[in-house]
Formats: sequence, C-alpha cells, structure tokens
Amino acid sequence: MLHFLDSLDEQEWQTLLDQFIPRVGEEELLELKTDIAGDPVTYCLRKLNKPMRELTELESKFSSVIIPDSPVDTGTYAQYLSQDILNHVVPVSSPTFVGHMTSALPKHLPELGKILTALNQNLVKLETSHILTALERQVLGMMHKLVYNRDESFYKQWLHNGEHALATFCSGGTLANLTAMWACRNQLMPADGNFAGLAREGLARGLLHYGYSGLAILVSELGHYSLKKTVDVLGLGQDALIKVDTDRDGRICIDDLRTQLQKLRQCNIKPMAIIGIAGSTETGSIDPLNILADIAEREQCHFHVDAAWGGASLLSERYRHLFAGIERADTVTIDAHKQMYVPMGSGMVLFRQPTLTNAIAQHANYIVRKGSKDLGRHTLEGSRSAMSLMLHSNFHLLGRQGLACLIDASIEKARQFADLIRQQEDFELISEPQLCLLTYRYVPPTVLQVLREGTAPVKQQLHESLNALNQSIQTMQWSAGKFFVSRTCIKPVQWDRQPTTVLRVVLANPLTTLEILENMLEEQRQLARQSPFWQDLVS
Ligand SMILES: *Cc1c(COP(=O)(O)O)cnc(C)c1O
Repeated sequence: MLHFLDSLDEQEWQTLLDQFIPRVGEEELLELKTDIAGDPVTYCLRKLNKPMRELTELESKFSSVIIPDSPVDTGTYAQYLSQDILNHVVPVSSPTFVGHMTSALPKHLPELGKILTALNQNLVKLETSHILTALERQVLGMMHKLVYNRDESFYKQWLHNGEHALATFCSGGTLANLTAMWACRNQLMPADGNFAGLAREGLARGLLHYGYSGLAILVSELGHYSLKKTVDVLGLGQDALIKVDTDRDGRICIDDLRTQLQKLRQCNIKPMAIIGIAGSTETGSIDPLNILADIAEREQCHFHVDAAWGGASLLSERYRHLFAGIERADTVTIDAHKQMYVPMGSGMVLFRQPTLTNAIAQHANYIVRKGSKDLGRHTLEGSRSAMSLMLHSNFHLLGRQGLACLIDASIEKARQFADLIRQQEDFELISEPQLCLLTYRYVPPTVLQVLREGTAPVKQQLHESLNALNQSIQTMQWSAGKFFVSRTCIKPVQWDRQPTTVLRVVLANPLTTLEILENMLEEQRQLARQSPFWQDLVS
C-alpha cells in the first residue's frame, strides 16, 4: 500500500502527494527553477549519493570580508549561485532526509513566497499591513478554535478585537514559549498598593513586594532548550527551570512533579508555571495533560503546553484524543513550520483567555498606537512578515482533511517503521512512536545478548561503545549525503537510565516510503561495519 492509510484510496493520496515539491528522477533531488532579473537559476541540483563537502573546505570560499565595490552582472551572480552555492545545500526536503522536524513543502509556497517578498508587508502595524492584519487575526482564530474550540459568540467577541489577542504569530516555538512565559510572569505580579507591577518595577521588587524568594518553571527533563533561554531572558535564572523525571514512555512523572513542588514550597519559591510537552522534540512523547491541568489548578499556577512540534496533530480526528486536556492550558505553543508544512519562521502562541495579553501589551506613539489594532502591541518581535498567509494558503489548498490525512499517514508510517526495526536482529527500538517520531539504535546481535545478561560494569562499558558506534554511524551517513537521521542522547528506563545515543527520525515528509527507510537501515548496517568503533565492540 502506497499511503499507509486504509481509509483512503490511492487516487486521493496521489492527489495529495502531487501538491508537494517532487523529486525529479532518482538522481536529482529536486529541481526548482527561478530567475534573478531574467537570469535563470536552478536550485538544489545536488545529486543523491554525492558526499557533502567538508565545511572547512567550503569556508575557504567565504574568507573575504570586503564588500564588492561595484556590482557584478546578474547573469554572473546567478551562475555563481547555482554552481557554487545551491549545489551544496543540504537537501532537507528530500524524502531520505528524515532526521529533522521541517518537511517537504507544498508546491504553491515558493511561488507565494515570491509574492510576499515583493509585497514586503510589515505586520507590526496596521498602516503597513491592513488587510493582512485582518487575515492574520482570522488564521489565529482558526488555530485558537483548533485548540480550544470555543463557541461562535466567543470568536465574534474576540477575533478582531484590537485590545486583546487570541494568539500571536512569531518566528518559532522558541519565541512562542518565551512570549507565553513573559505574559505569565507579568500577570503573576500585577500592580498592587504602592507596587506598580512587575512590568514596571522589575522582578527584584516584585519578589520583595509579594514575599517570594524566587520563581520557578517546572517541565519534564525532555523540555526543549528554548525554556532554558526563557528563564534566563526573563531574569529568573537558569536554575529556576526545574527538570522533572520522565517514565518509561518519556512522559512526565507525576510523583516526581509533586516532590519538586513540595521542595519549592519549603524554599518559599513560587511555581510560576507547569509546562506539559505535547510531542517532545527528542522522543515525541506526550505528557498527561489533564493530570497536569489538575495540578496546576490546585497550585494556582499557569499551565502552558509546548506543542510546537506535535500540535498540528490536533487536526487529526484519529489522534486528537492524545492531546486531551490541552484545552485547559492557559497558553499553547504551536509551530506551523513543523507539521503544518509552512516554511520556517512561523510559530504561534495561543491564549485561552485573550485578556492575558494585557500583561504584555505595549504602545509607542509613532508605532503600535494605544487603541489601534496594530498586531505589534502584543508581539515580542517588531517588524515581521506575513507568514500567516502561508498557513492560510495551506488551510485552503490542502484543507483540514488533507492535513489530517498527511498526519495520519505519518503516524501510521512511524508505526510500520517501528515494526520493521523490531524485525531486525541488529537494530533496537528505543522509543515507540506516539506520533510520527521514534528513536532507535544499531546493536550488533552478539552484543545485545551480553548487554542483557552482563554484569553492571560490563554493561556500562558496552553502552559507551554503542554510543560511540551510533554516533559515528550518524555522522558518516550525513557525510555520505544520501540519507539523514539525527541523533540525540536520552536516558531510557529499560536500560537503567544509562545515557544512550539514539538515532532519531521524524516521518512527516509524505514522500518518504517504507522502501526508503529499509534502504536507510541497510546503509546504517554497512556503515556500522566500517566504523572505527566496530572492532571494539565485536572483539
Ligand atoms: C522545535 C521546538 C521548539 C522550538 O521551536 P523553534 O521553532 O525551533 O524556535 C520548542 N519546543 C518544542 C517541543 C519543539 O519541538
């Protein structure tokens, strides 16, 4: 079966696939022609099987720091671009590059991108975006409805209300998480008596006034590193990010969460927010959101859900239930550039209560005027392009059903790939796919036996050798240029939490087939034997 879904016929699936930027033949990954002032440029003619050039070798081509004095003609520049630059780009949209979270894009987007660039609208304020501000608010409303599903009168009241926002666009999940925690922090310490509020007087005075010795944010150990930046930027300090243990399936341990909350109470540290992850970056695991919502309610603290990667799966009727409880989150992060097939630079933070944006509303006389509908009043960024139009076009050209099919097919593909890995005697599945992401590693069969039965020191030694082996497989495969998986280090419960280097795949590209994945495993098997760490292990 071509499409992994029993509910869909081949024809319907083919129609969906045809909307994506194709591979041209077996050799050439993708051929996209455009022109610069009349001179044709061809992108990405990098041949499959062509090894990546060493970075140091490429760097030597970029060693001059002199800005060219006079212009070169466009033909020369176009030729330089296609031969010297585009020829070496990483083929991230190839169906064989399954290690990253951004996938192949629908064909219409590069064209729409050209138009957006030409129009150069600035969404920071109404005067430079006008109709696109209205469109962006509509798209944000659609996203709000997807998560919170409020009734018609709610959206009638808030959708185009310039004083507040249902959600805001930003460059990605990092800024979305930061924005959510910024609003949360400011709201926690509002003006009170002679205290003018944290937004005006700062954190130190806020803590004094409210009588806390500090603030903390709690998230599982699989929390995205953007949260570390968040606590740093917000002045809480990196130690304010409390990492909670995870269970066998990578979900936050509720017992440990309770213990951590108890510890904070003893130190008079206020838990500012509890964060649930709905699709962790490393293993794709989804925290029990309803339980976290209950705890946050009891602690009277903010509940944020980081669904940067996973949130798009809410479009699927089949898998939406995995996110039960997300509608209770005060704020939710979703990236359209991950599983909504939009180019990078497209993150969103959604607010359950639009009035939460009061905590971060800004105004300046020359721009983002008070009482105006300028989107910039509620965004951390200033000048910003109309990425929302990209998402708008996908909603219309693929439709909710089309997007849901893509997501269902990705998850089904991940399950079939997990089965395939289980059938191999020399690969080990480390984390089951909850969505379309899984991790695994290469283990020579003889080693697996010893790993199960050996003494603790022997096991540890073997794990370390396996880590080195898998690291080298991943690096060699990337350099060879045909396939790409990523790698990370996790602490699986089934291996007594030993740090384990795993290969990680994200199967969102609809053009990736099981055959491709089989060939990828076969190449990894061969690379393992060529690895300098092979001998260590099997001897
Ligand atoms: C990718 C990701 C982020 C960060 O998003 P960017 O768009 O890279 O800034 C945050 N959280 C999770 C769970 C992610 O997967």
